Amino acid sequence: ANENLFAALRAAFPEDLSATAIEAIAPDGSTLYYTWADLDHASARIANLMDSLNLPQGARVAVQVEKSVETLTLYLATLRAGLVFLPLNTAYRSAEIEYFVRDAEPAVVVCTPAAFGWVSKIAFQAGTQAVYTLGDDRSGSLLERAAHHAETHTPAVCAADTLAAIVYTSGTTGRSKGAMLTHGNLLANAVMLKEYWGWRKDDVLIHALPIFHVHGLFVAIHAALLGASKMLWFAKFDPAAVVAALPRATVFMGVPTLYVRMLGETALNRNAVSNMRLFISGSAPLLIETFREWQERTGHTILERYGMSETTMLTSNPYGPDARYDNQSERRGGTVGFPLPGVDLRVADAQDRALPAGEIGGIQVRGASVFGGYWRMPEKTAQEFTRDGWFRTGDVGQVDARGYVHIVGRSKDLIISGGYNVYPAEIEGVLNELPGVQESAVVGVPHPDFGEVGVAVVVARPGSQPAPEALLGTLKTQLANYKIPKHCVLVPDLPRNTMGKVQKNLLREAYGGLFA
Ligand code: ATP
Ligand code: MG
Repeated sequence: ANENLFAALRAAFPEDLSATAIEAIAPDGSTLYYTWADLDHASARIANLMDSLNLPQGARVAVQVEKSVETLTLYLATLRAGLVFLPLNTAYRSAEIEYFVRDAEPAVVVCTPAAFGWVSKIAFQAGTQAVYTLGDDRSGSLLERAAHHAETHTPAVCAADTLAAIVYTSGTTGRSKGAMLTHGNLLANAVMLKEYWGWRKDDVLIHALPIFHVHGLFVAIHAALLGASKMLWFAKFDPAAVVAALPRATVFMGVPTLYVRMLGETALNRNAVSNMRLFISGSAPLLIETFREWQERTGHTILERYGMSETTMLTSNPYGPDARYDNQSERRGGTVGFPLPGVDLRVADAQDRALPAGEIGGIQVRGASVFGGYWRMPEKTAQEFTRDGWFRTGDVGQVDARGYVHIVGRSKDLIISGGYNVYPAEIEGVLNELPGVQESAVVGVPHPDFGEVGVAVVVARPGSQPAPEALLGTLKTQLANYKIPKHCVLVPDLPRNTMGKVQKNLLREAYGGLFA
């Protein structure tokens, strides 16, 4: 049988292909309607164009363009043609593109018309065969060329272990690595999530995430396509526009910052969400305070889940009663829920021995969605798998007695102070509850006596000005002394990357000299 992911997605399209699949809503409110037939035909044309290039198996199609429905059809076309989709963050500039293009050696590069000059130069130097352009207004050579090709196309025959995509990690802890995901990896996760999150035919998904990342590209799109459900599509996240669309939607997926920004809209109330069935958050920790405020304002409990580029989704709070966990159905803030069906998850010590419930250690996983390795990094790949085949996520956490997974930070962010392990998330959690504190990040910096000590970087609530010394003083009454940061600073904002992740490496650089 053909295990091509596109074939599975296509098979799930509704019978009536003239129905609307996507409403693309522009910033001025004007809307473009795409039917299921449009998605099918447009992806067929691009797949035929790719076929005409006679590329070898495994050839990469690198894509750095603005988000549009055409970008989505380009993704579908790449799967359909059996080639490897390689999305690139739209924020990347020439030095970064040069790194990724040299690293990935794509056969095809698709960029914006405005970037053609410099991108094509880099690409042709790296041996790329064809460079096309695609604007967010359907302009560019890709669609022009594809228009000459037929609107039908038989999906390339792929095995479950055929490479489907290389997704570069967000680069939060260091240089981005290319995670190699197969058709089988992606389909397994998508089918399972559709089931676990109770996807329905009449669901309407608000899609307001970027599509160069696992969250917006795989989690959101695969679920909606497999569910044959409509998407309300926003190229850029605008909180007012998204809140205005809520009454017509049933599912929303966002990173935590999107929830924070929507809470800033007065129009967000119980009325606006009366049609909604599910709000999902992931990619970075959701503050317990956002979780609670959302509950109060909307009556909905955000479902937080956890995943990564290398594995797609790993854990989720329950959608309904989970029979594997005593039919518990509570979505607990501050946790990322249960290991998803098909995912084995354990917390292990430094010798890769599984730890009992309640103990903190490295989170390791196994399962059908776990990637095969990093692109052209065999040593790094070997390092990140245990001898018995578990993938080291690099996240530190614990599983509680009820089975909920808690993430306490990344192993690279762990602070070892005077020989004690200090988990930044624990201190941040206490700090965030103090009066006047909006959010915080605790990072370790070198210290002559303790090896490392914590520095608390705090963002104050609008209108308040908590005294750093007083914050540390209050912390001392609540936490053991070795956990107390040795320094606290107020800043206007935490540095974040495009996925809303706090860039602790930048904070470590900024404050690294404090005690040196
Ligand atoms: P890099 O690997 O390049 O440093 P990255 O790990 O941020 O970057 P991604 O693959 O995009 O790149 O993100 C995966 C990570 O995001 C996870 O390992 C985890 O640390 C974090 N994450 C995802 N979801 C959650 C969540 N719900 N709560 C806390 N952390 C999360
Ligand atoms: Mg990572």
